This record gives sequence, C-alpha cells and structure tokens, in this order.
Amino acid sequence: MHSTVGPGSSEAISRRLLVCNARDALDGYTPEIRDSYREGMVTARTGMMTRPSGSHRDHLVLAAIALTNRLADGWSGGVRYAAPEDADECAAIANETCERFYRKQTAFLPAQAPELRTLARRLHDVLLDLAADDIPVAIPKINALLAEHPAALHLSTEPPYSLHYQDHGMPAVQGWQVGCCAALASWVSSKSTQYIRRCDAAQCDRVFFDDTRSGTKRFCGPRCQDREKVRAYRLRKAVADAGGTSR
Ligand SMILES: [Zn+2]
Repeated sequence: MHSTVGPGSSEAISRRLLVCNARDALDGYTPEIRDSYREGMVTARTGMMTRPSGSHRDHLVLAAIALTNRLADGWSGGVRYAAPEDADECAAIANETCERFYRKQTAFLPAQAPELRTLARRLHDVLLDLAADDIPVAIPKINALLAEHPAALHLSTEPPYSLHYQDHGMPAVQGWQVGCCAALASWVSSKSTQYIRRCDAAQCDRVFFDDTRSGTKRFCGPRCQDREKVRAYRLRKAVADAGGTSR
C-alpha cells in the first residue's frame, strides 16, 4: 500500500525541498539570522507548527520588534523606559539594531532621531495590538503608516533573492517604515502575528518574537522571568500566611 506520510511521500519531499531552498537562501545573512533560519526550518520539519522562518519579510518584523524595544518609551523590566534623547545615540542604536537583520541598509542619520523615535512609538503601538490579538485595532494603524510613503516593490537582483518593499533611495526612516509595515501587514494576512508577544511581567511592555517550539514563552528575558517568580512566590506566601491566621 502506498504510504502518504513516509520518506517518499509528497509531503516529505516538499519539506526536503523547502529545507534545501532555505539553505541556498542563507548566503549574505548574519550568523544570527542563519541560526534562526535553521532553527525555524527544523521546527517546520517537525510538523509541530508552521512559523516564520527567516525570509526578508520576517527579518523586517524582527527588526521592528528590536527597534521598538530600544527606541519606544514605556516599561522594561519593572522600571520606566525612555528612549535616548541624544540624536547620535538614537541613530547609532537604530543602525546597530537593524544591521543585525539586514546588512545592506541605508544608514539612519542623527538628524532623523525625532522621526525615528516617533516611528518606534507607532510601531510599538501596533505590535502591542498584534500581541493582544487585537487585529481590527491594528489594521487602520498599519494602513495609515503604509499610506504615508510609497512602497516600491522589487526583487533583489543578487542572492538571496527576496521581495523588497522600499526604494533604497528613500531616507532610512521612511524606508524602514514602509518595509516594517508591509512585513507586518503580510504577517497579519498569513496569521503569523501569533508569534508576537508582549512580556507577561508586571511593569514591562517590551515585545518579543516567541521562538519556542511550544509557543509558550511569556517573558522578554531572564530579568522579567525572575521578577515574576519572586512575585508569584510572595503572592503564594501571602495567601498561605493569610490562610494560617484566619484559621
Ligand atoms: Zn519584560
């Protein structure tokens, strides 16, 4: 009898092709991205879940998350977080952050720092909506950001071939606004936004990409995880103490 799930099945063949194509597409990316790509493909191969796995589009979403965590005001790790006021520092952070995801970028300039902080705040707002699965609220915000600058769809002419959304002649802030929002729009349409999470800890609104196989990551980092462990312990102790005194 013909097997539909064995190594020769069409499903297994298409998965192998997917992995081969992914491997071929890795040239030109940073080691960090290559690792995340491979991890993503391994997860996809297990069949446990399909998830974003390293396309240019996915890197733009990861860059949007990283940019907002560094340049959007809010809360982080239990304390108020304020983006740096210094224009040079602001541009340097943005350049360093985006270079992790895309090497051939147009550089952010210190003169663009106010626009950069505004973009980070608006992207953070959208990401928080997506993390809360509040898609109808996020969509008009994404559309408004997309309407402000023309997208210039084109394929890169050198490997890894990928669909780009912005004209590289655009100033960096506008280019990243178009690119990140087009990528977020694509994630909404492919239901990939379930991987965008807001930190569960008190007094923290940082956003992260849940890269766990189980999809159960709750905190932005060890600091918040530890804070919540302590908080949960104190809560249990307070409840136990209250129970003890009421008897
Ligand atoms: Zn946190």
